Parts: sequence; structure tokens; C-alpha cells
Amino acid sequence: MKNIFEKSNNSESIMFSDEEENLDFLDKSLLREGEVGLPQIGELEVMRHYKELSDKNFCIEKGVYPLGSCTMKYNPKVNEVLASLEGFANLHPSTPDKYAQGALELMFKLQEKLKKITGMDAVTLQPAAGAHGELTGMMIVKKYFEHIKDNRKKVIIPDSAHGTNPSSAKMCGFDIVNVKSNERGQVDVEDLKRLVDKDVAAIMMTNPNTLGIFEENVKEISEIMHANGSLLYYDGANFNAIMGYTNPKKMGFDIVHVNLHKTFATPHGGGGPGAGPVGVVEKLKDFLPVPVIGFDGEMYFKDYNLENTIGSVKAFYGNFGVLVRAYAYILMMGDNLKEATENAVLNANYIKEKLKSAYEFPFNEPSMHEFVMSGERQKENGVSTLNIAKRLMDFDVHPPTIYFPLIIHEAIMVEPTESETKEKLDEFIEIMLKIAKEAEETPDMVLTAPHMTPVKKVDETLAARHPDLTFKE
Ligand SMILES: *Cc1c(COP(=O)(O)O)cnc(C)c1O
Repeated sequence: MKNIFEKSNNSESIMFSDEEENLDFLDKSLLREGEVGLPQIGELEVMRHYKELSDKNFCIEKGVYPLGSCTMKYNPKVNEVLASLEGFANLHPSTPDKYAQGALELMFKLQEKLKKITGMDAVTLQPAAGAHGELTGMMIVKKYFEHIKDNRKKVIIPDSAHGTNPSSAKMCGFDIVNVKSNERGQVDVEDLKRLVDKDVAAIMMTNPNTLGIFEENVKEISEIMHANGSLLYYDGANFNAIMGYTNPKKMGFDIVHVNLHKTFATPHGGGGPGAGPVGVVEKLKDFLPVPVIGFDGEMYFKDYNLENTIGSVKAFYGNFGVLVRAYAYILMMGDNLKEATENAVLNANYIKEKLKSAYEFPFNEPSMHEFVMSGERQKENGVSTLNIAKRLMDFDVHPPTIYFPLIIHEAIMVEPTESETKEKLDEFIEIMLKIAKEAEETPDMVLTAPHMTPVKKVDETLAARHPDLTFKE
């Protein structure tokens, strides 16, 4: 360096002399004496490292996410902006009501919207997820029967139900009684009649059920249960199939949960946070957890004054950020929630029809927003549903839900949601057909998948017994 500056001038050096050079802007008194001991890696390298890791992740921004029963719809990014507004995000949960009117108003109005959507008479926003809503609902059932001094012990649950249904009822001390599905994938009403007695507190149902099939006898079932003095619980995880067409009240239910993170567009997966508001009919209003949000015509307030309340089920008022997102989504959709339902149902049926030639379909019923097919035909060539799911990853498609519901062998459960374009649906169909062909002609291609992902085929048993969670290139 020195040479360059010295030789570039043939009369006098343009280079600073040692006395002149003085770019030392640091105040020596502020300097540390020893080494800091930080890893010797720059910010740019760190950023590149994390970006590379994130590129290895799958997300809805990358590809189709047809995870049945989970409603992985697109979550508008504007919801994130709204949920992080200073006044919402930094509001202390203990702020007195009069200084938190905006947040309370939002919660009150969300309660009102959910009352309208579910047909129920009162709503709590506290539960943190669908399963938590079920638990809240079962606690209400329990307390209701204690209150009327009729201690019933049993809860009836269809064999197609989500596992959280029996778990929630069991956690409240109920005995679980399974009711069979018939050959049309619906609750067998004759079997139900045999099971109903004066010890049955409630039935928990999902409609459309987890097979994506609408329970057409739901009204008859509700009459049977009500005649027996039992309550009906509606697992609202599949609300994306009914919005604007019907509601659980019309079907005869008494308690409902909705999964805001499914139907009402909050990002989810990997454990939350979510929200599972619960709605109830008039006679159960007083049993809701406290506080519920009230409005006296002037002020919004936290109402702790419910006579038979089961208590609180969550710190403060639930996962508030999720409530903001759901409220924003509902307002933004306006009267188009019905259209979302229509498109979700149309998309599922479109894929289903196109895959009928290649996969087994155990039921001949029309589907709602999702459908269940079976990989049994592929299994004849030794290719399991798990192999098919792994192969999908090579095409940048998130595998659908597999081996659920339990009553279908080699189950593959697809829920495209309303957010995907026809082009994307066609792409997915083409990939599924290609994999079916491979299973027949070159089964090894499927059996050894995935080939393109950072982590290739793992030994399932070993992975379960001795998980190695270190990252390897
Ligand atoms: C997702 C789901 C649940 C549980 O909801 P979480 O919010 O995940 O706790 C319950 N029932 C059905 C049918 C579901 O799809």
C-alpha cells in the first residue's frame, strides 16, 4: 500500500506522515482491556446461516399445504401488522378497563360475531386451542349436571372422532362410549339408540365429521339426545365447511368451539398459539369461564359475575393476538365467509374427482371441505401411505394428514382450503397421479423417498427410540 501512495507522486509524498494521521476516533478511556471472547463470525455470515436453515423449512409461502383436519389456509399478512399495533401488542393485561377500551371493544365485538356465526347465545374467548375449548365445554357439561343434581358419567363419541374429544371428556372424569360409523361414514343411529341411557351426559360430534362427510342425521341425533336430557357438543374444527350455510344451533347443538387458527386465519402449526372460543346456548350462559367481556351501553368491561362459572381456564383473557387476527379476518371477509366455504368445498371435490382413477375411496358420499382416501391399492405393490407422503416432499408439497381417521386403512386426508388456485390444484393432482404410477411401475422410487429434501428417508423406529436432533449437512 505504502508504495502506491509514495510512487504516485514524483515531487512530494501525498501520504500522511505518522504525526499527521489521526483517524483514531475512539475515546481510549472507554476501551475494554482484554478480549471480548465473541465467536469470530460476522453478521453477514450469521444471516446467511439462518437464511439457509429457514430455506430448508417448509411453509405455505413455499407450496401447497393440504393437511387434512388442520385448515392450513392462507393467513393475510395484514393481520400480522394489526396484531402488532403498539396499542394492542404493548397493552398490559392488568390495565384497568377504562384505559383498555379499544382492546375490550374488539373482544366484545368478536364475541358478538362468533355468536352470529355459531348461533350460540354467549361466547368465551379464553380457551387457547380447540382441544382447550373441548375441555372447557366438558367442564361446563360436568358442572351443569352437578348443578341440576343429576350426576351423569358417560360421554358418547363417534369412532371417527379426533383424539382430543375422548381425551377432553376423560380429563373431566367421564367414561367414553364409542358409537360406530356406518358404511356411509356417518354415525350409526341404531347403534347410538342402543347406547343412550340416563347416565349419558353428552355426545361430542364433528360435522362434517373427520371423514369430510356431513352427518345428515344430525337433527335426529339431537332429538334423541335432548329427549334423554343429554347435551350435544360440537367440535367446530371443520367450520370451514359450513359457514354461511348453517350453524351448530340449527343442527341442535348446545356447546360449540371454533378454532380461530383454522377457520379464521391465524398462522398455526408447531404448537400455536391458537384460540378456541366456546359458545353455549342460553341455559349454559352462566357456566362460562370468567371473565367474559360485557358492554353496558357506554363502557366495555370484564364481567366476572356469572353465577355458575367453572372459573378461569386461562390466564387473563386468552391469546389476545390471535383474537385480533381473527377479528381482522372476519371484518375483511365481510359477507364472503360463505364464499370461502363454497370454494373450500369445491376445491376438495375437484381434487377428489380427479384422483378417483388412481386411489381407493372408501365412501361414495359427497365430500365437504376435505376428503379421505386410501392408499390400499398402492399397498398391494408394497408402497404404503407413509411412502406416498414422503415422496410428495420431493415435489415441494407438504404431505397431507395420514393414518387419520383411524377407521380407514392407509388413510390419506386432503384439505386444500379455499386459498389455492386451480393451477395449484392441478399441479397437486398431477403429482399425486404421478406417484400412483410410480408405485406401480417403479415402486423403489417411492419406497426410498424423499430424495430431494435436506434430511432423506429416516429409520422410523430408530428415530423414535433414539432421536438424534443435531443438524447434519
Ligand atoms: C384440530 C382439531 C382439533 C383440535 O384443535 P387444536 O386447536 O389443535 O387443539 C379437534 N378436533 C378436530 C376435528 C380437529 O381437526
